[in-house]
Amino acid sequence: MKFATKAIHAGNEAEPVTGAIMPPIYMTSTFVQEAPGETKGYDYTRAGNPNFTILEKLLASLENGKYATVFSSGLGALTGLISTLSSGDKVVGINGVYGGTYRLFNSVFKRYGITFTSIAHPTPEALKIAFKEKPKWLFFETPTNPLLEVFDIAELTKIAKEHGVLTIVDNTFATAYFQTPLDYGVDAVWHSTTKYVGGHSDVIGGVAITNNEKLKHDLDFARMAIGLNPSPFDTWLLTRGVKTLAIRMEQHQKNALAIVSFLESHPKVKKIFYPGLKTHSSYHLAKKQMRGYGGMISVEFNLTLEMTKKLISSLKLFSLAESLGGVESLVCHPATMTHASIPDDERHLYGISDGLVRFSVGIEDCEDLIKDLSEGLKAV
Ligand code: PLP
Repeated sequence: MKFATKAIHAGNEAEPVTGAIMPPIYMTSTFVQEAPGETKGYDYTRAGNPNFTILEKLLASLENGKYATVFSSGLGALTGLISTLSSGDKVVGINGVYGGTYRLFNSVFKRYGITFTSIAHPTPEALKIAFKEKPKWLFFETPTNPLLEVFDIAELTKIAKEHGVLTIVDNTFATAYFQTPLDYGVDAVWHSTTKYVGGHSDVIGGVAITNNEKLKHDLDFARMAIGLNPSPFDTWLLTRGVKTLAIRMEQHQKNALAIVSFLESHPKVKKIFYPGLKTHSSYHLAKKQMRGYGGMISVEFNLTLEMTKKLISSLKLFSLAESLGGVESLVCHPATMTHASIPDDERHLYGISDGLVRFSVGIEDCEDLIKDLSEGLKAV
């Protein structure tokens, strides 16, 4: 099946008792057992629930993976993944991860002896040097957040495999619609399903997807043992949201391309970061590796920091808010919002300037979005 068909049909079977075409919400904490230990597959919702299974089958299918485990949030999924490591293990990251990811490694798991070091440019030489420390994982996001830099998944995974290192990729920005890292041999893909997968800014969720049966087993164990489970209602909402992922991603991208072309010639714009822009450093790699460029754009304006903040607070259709990937357009200031947990000097080193603005382009009518930006820019 092609993507849009899978998004609607994978994992979805009519409910056997009533024939309901869409799954009910199994809003239950526990399940009756016929005899001690004799279940119908579920015993307690912290360990599993039919709504989790339905979403897991769907998301695994979209990522071209065998197994998925859903979690309470994106960081819940990452916690599940990290819990498969042990004290003393090392993770090599590549600059450009979400601020909360950085915080989870450096402010929580560091205390448990798991170390996270970042490299700026993942050249084969830099990786070989980093791998001398015998890390367990190579860990990155592509496109990166918020500079939209793209890394060569096939190349990086190949080098990691040669050194016995697992590759873990955050695929939140691209989604499985534009990129399927498991096809390149990655060991696990994870998402904040809060973003494009849910798509309606009404749910927090996460997922980890893998072809490795042992890892799937360990992720299920982590969810149950740590208590990282989502609610049945949230997984039902995500199952509902994902059915329109293909058409939403097409429209996010269409609007993003139109906005980029408007901003490109605007005198108050200094630099645009969008992988679909021919002048972006990752354009050729994005074209090769991805099936589209997505709906995220970052921009530096020819404005003072004060004026930049005034601009983003004045927009009417782009709401000033954290998060991304919903049907509605959002704008944020990474330095003080999504990436505030990264120390200033390190943030500057990553190229996230004080004036950088990130747009999550929604699926509204693009003429209205451009009008909003145009009027905002006129006023500053
Ligand atoms: N990964 C990326 C790229 C994100 O943007 C976020 C949240 O903003 C996360 C992971 C964390 O996900 P959650 O907020 O669902 O825990």
